[in-house]
Amino acid sequence: MDGRGNDAPAIGIDLGTTYSCVAVWKHDRIEIIPNDQGNRTTPSYVAFADEERLIGDGAKNQVAMNTANTIFDAKRLIGRRFSDSKVQEDMKLWPFKVIEGPANTTKIVITYKGQEKEFSSEEISSMILGKMKETAEAYLGKIVKDAVITVPAYFNDSQRQATKDAGTISGLNVIRMINEPTAAAIAYGLDNKSDIVGKINVLVFDLGGGTFDVSILTIGEGGTFEVKAVSGDTHLGGGDFDNRMVDHCVLEFKRRWNKDLTGNQRALGRLRFACEKAKRILSCTTQTSVELDCLHEGIDFSLKFTRAKFEDLNMISFNKCIETLETCLSDATMKKSCVDQVILVGGSTRIPKVQRMLQEFFGGRELCKSVNPDEAVAYGAAVMAAKVSGSCDKSVQDVLLFDVTPLSLGVEVKGELLDVVIPRNTPIPTSNDETYHTVADNQSSFTIKVYQGERSKSVDNHLLGKFRITGLPLAPRGGSSVMVCFEIDTNGILTVTAAIISTGKMEKLVISNENGRLSKEEIEKMVTDANKYILEDQEFKKKADAYNALEDCLYTVKNKIEEYNIQKSVHPETLEKMEKAIAETTKWLQDNQAAPLAELHLMKVHLEFVCNLLL
Ligand code: ADP
Ligand code: MG
Repeated sequence: MDGRGNDAPAIGIDLGTTYSCVAVWKHDRIEIIPNDQGNRTTPSYVAFADEERLIGDGAKNQVAMNTANTIFDAKRLIGRRFSDSKVQEDMKLWPFKVIEGPANTTKIVITYKGQEKEFSSEEISSMILGKMKETAEAYLGKIVKDAVITVPAYFNDSQRQATKDAGTISGLNVIRMINEPTAAAIAYGLDNKSDIVGKINVLVFDLGGGTFDVSILTIGEGGTFEVKAVSGDTHLGGGDFDNRMVDHCVLEFKRRWNKDLTGNQRALGRLRFACEKAKRILSCTTQTSVELDCLHEGIDFSLKFTRAKFEDLNMISFNKCIETLETCLSDATMKKSCVDQVILVGGSTRIPKVQRMLQEFFGGRELCKSVNPDEAVAYGAAVMAAKVSGSCDKSVQDVLLFDVTPLSLGVEVKGELLDVVIPRNTPIPTSNDETYHTVADNQSSFTIKVYQGERSKSVDNHLLGKFRITGLPLAPRGGSSVMVCFEIDTNGILTVTAAIISTGKMEKLVISNENGRLSKEEIEKMVTDANKYILEDQEFKKKADAYNALEDCLYTVKNKIEEYNIQKSVHPETLEKMEKAIAETTKWLQDNQAAPLAELHLMKVHLEFVCNLLL
């Protein structure tokens, strides 16, 4: 596609655990696209309310009232099996229900319109991606098709595949997937090779809403981005800082009124919302307050919060970040003096204390912060989107860009060992093959188990899938052989084929069965479902609009009767009719909150007809 035609240009999406962001190359620069609320990042939340499905700010805003049907953290589930220890641990913390689906997949269970429904994490993610697509379409005034989506550097093949599937379900054509730290480095212009002499080492410090990731990248002259080491904490981020503030408020409430808030979920939800807001304010001023009317048992709550107090409450977490940073450097066997650039990513790096501690750690060096940290990943993804689709000018386009494989890929060989076919940090796209000989006399088949990881014992790695090739010509041990070929495309997605050398018979790895990856049919079904939900959302919006229009009309005529002394100019009989219609409509609206669209229209037509004189 070329972005010069009538099509919308390709967009870049940062699909975050807690917030997502979308950007596009327009007017020769990157623009971060604000959503319908005017916000530049959108909560990665999907809620199923009584009557409607909400995505983004709308979903997050009502979380306190609808905890069981408000889904967040879908990124923690994507591409993972139900038995995964991380899933089992995270499940304990979620207010929504997660169950085991077919083939050890995960399903999120919610109630929507009185019915229980199950969604895969791909579907939930697709709804968020759909919202980002819609945001871009509203801004560009065109249908968006192509997108670059980012994923954490540590995501394995199945997590990447599942993210790509989510894109497909949302109606997007995922033209490339890149690592989040790579995208951030691109945002800071580090893909611009004229600046780079030899290699440079970049440390990406990403402190977001729920996770903390440190990555060390080496950027080479050819525009190669090599992830040297990743480290982090999967449960450290802005949400924890909010919780500390909430805990502090709860204690204060107890001290002042001797009442315990902890059982009041609604109050806690409202507090958390207010604390997040206060936290953001404290990043630019040194003092603010948390104020909530009628927080609990009719008591209003107001508490002054200083930046110093906030820092004090969170010092343990901040220190943990620095410790993790040290681990990452030692994993990469790199001294801090060898780091050429330090990049801030993630909304929580806006916290002044975090910036100061990081700067001190690096001996007072300036940190890269010319791009907003919570927008850097989407920014880089949009640069990449423009490059891949050719919608930016040639100088940008010519820069070569390579990502690398984050983990080694290989097959299990005799003795339960992992034989690496593609080592980690290989620039992609890439392919490699290995030949394996039979290990027994008259062996007629091979089972090929594909693993991803760095451990030498195969089972200690992540099993991506397995398949069997049969029909080997019977021969003494070692006499027959199979060639196994690994191919990784530009998105980091792997296809494995095996061929019997003497006959040419071939088999391909189907990851879906083993791995809980969605089948083509399932994806197609989900695409249809997604469209169904979009239609439903539109229907709901139409109904809400009609409801509002009727109410509007009602108030207009009511006010007109009160405002102008129309009694004189209107026949008393007509006036009586009008007042009757108004009273009837008012009552009808109260009793028919969920009236169908046609009835709403009809009521409005009737009211307009009777009150024609006033309108
Ligand atoms: P994700 O972790 O999902 O990638 P972000 O990088 O956008 O998301 O980070 C979101 C977190 O950043 C939230 O916890 C949010 O409260 C926090 N945040 C955003 N802006 C600020 C700010 N100005 N000061 C402090 N924290 C902020
Ligand atoms: Mg992020």
